[in-house]
Amino acid sequence: PKTAYVRTKPHLNIGTMGHVDHGKTTLTAAITKVLAERGSGTFVPFDRIDRAPEEAARGITINIAHVEYETDTRHYAHVDMPGHADYVKNMVTGAAQLDGAILVVSALDGIMPQTAEHVLLARQVGVDHIVVALNKADAVDDGDTVLADLVELEVRELLTAHGYGGDSVPVVRVSGLRALEGDPRWTEAIGALLDAVDTYVPMPERYVDAPFLLPVENVLTITGRGTVVTGAVERGTVRVGDRVEVLGAAVETVVTGLETFGKPMDEAQAGDSVALLLRGVPRDAVRRGHIVAAPGSVVPGRRFSAQVYVLSAREGGRTTPVSTGYRPQFYIRTADVVGDVDLGENAVARPGDTVTMTVELGREVPLEPGLGFAIREGGRTVGAGTVTAVG
Ligand code: GDP
Ligand code: MG
Repeated sequence: PKTAYVRTKPHLNIGTMGHVDHGKTTLTAAITKVLAERGSGTFVPFDRIDRAPEEAARGITINIAHVEYETDTRHYAHVDMPGHADYVKNMVTGAAQLDGAILVVSALDGIMPQTAEHVLLARQVGVDHIVVALNKADAVDDGDTVLADLVELEVRELLTAHGYGGDSVPVVRVSGLRALEGDPRWTEAIGALLDAVDTYVPMPERYVDAPFLLPVENVLTITGRGTVVTGAVERGTVRVGDRVEVLGAAVETVVTGLETFGKPMDEAQAGDSVALLLRGVPRDAVRRGHIVAAPGSVVPGRRFSAQVYVLSAREGGRTTPVSTGYRPQFYIRTADVVGDVDLGENAVARPGDTVTMTVELGREVPLEPGLGFAIREGGRTVGAGTVTAVG
């Protein structure tokens, strides 16, 4: 029998962000190793994190790796995303629901394009707290820390430029690689990084009393038990036995099982990453992008107004302006929907502009003011926005 999940500490969702090869996955593995040695978690080796996409049985999505661990004061779900496109899909759409982020910057390489883009996207989706892991500190550490000092300055400036108050952001010099190898000095540095996360990232407000809502990230079948949907609870609380509706699939059903990280639980609440077993729902009826919610609590719609930042070419966005009639994909929560853009008076929006627009989606999804979304085209992100009004 599986051990039940016992909620003894506040739960937060964090994740690593940063340029490819700066050491996000290595650092993630190192954190689990250091904490496992302290007796609060299970070591998850690099290969398990990097190959996690194939491990559907653990209830993780196809393009996000979750690990869990505990510090003295908190329980964390930590996401590590393999590629830049996964950040866009999961983080920018809010699917990852980060309460805080660890920005991994290689002290050898400094700020690179994806470092800057992830900071920008984090700001857009409301990640209010970032802690910096100045990684590969072992490689610049031969008594001469000038390079690391320069990179630290540069990172603080970048964060300030995006409204993160770069002067007060904790910047911790670490070596994920050396900590993984068991080096005592760098093991201690991981401890310092976790202390910084514990103290600098505040416990977010959880809307546990609101009607339950979970955007579906992934759907799987457990032989003999039925259809399972996974995702992060956006708001509210759900218990085994509760009635829910699946928006998109137009079915009403009952939650017959709940799990988090493979452990059964009686009640899941806002902020939890969970798997929900749904009674009598055919596997094909539910898809990523659907919403599981308290019956009648959300009304889907197709039309909304929004404020949108059009990414500049330097940030990986378009090189040419967009105009009314533009028809990109909108990533809203976990859904991916085509939409018609109307720029009204503005007529055109150039890369680097912030504009207001109205959007008519190709199908209905639950919408509400404040909801963040990404705009994508041909496999890249070209905009990030917030819903200002619905209808
Ligand atoms: P990711 O793409 O950001 O997830 O980066 P990885 O964790 O896959 O690491 C990329 C490369 O950097 C690998 O070859 C790692 O061994 C190396 N690396 C990661 N962390 C460190 C570190 O702290 N020090 C050194 N010297 N190399 C590191
Ligand atoms: Mg990686």
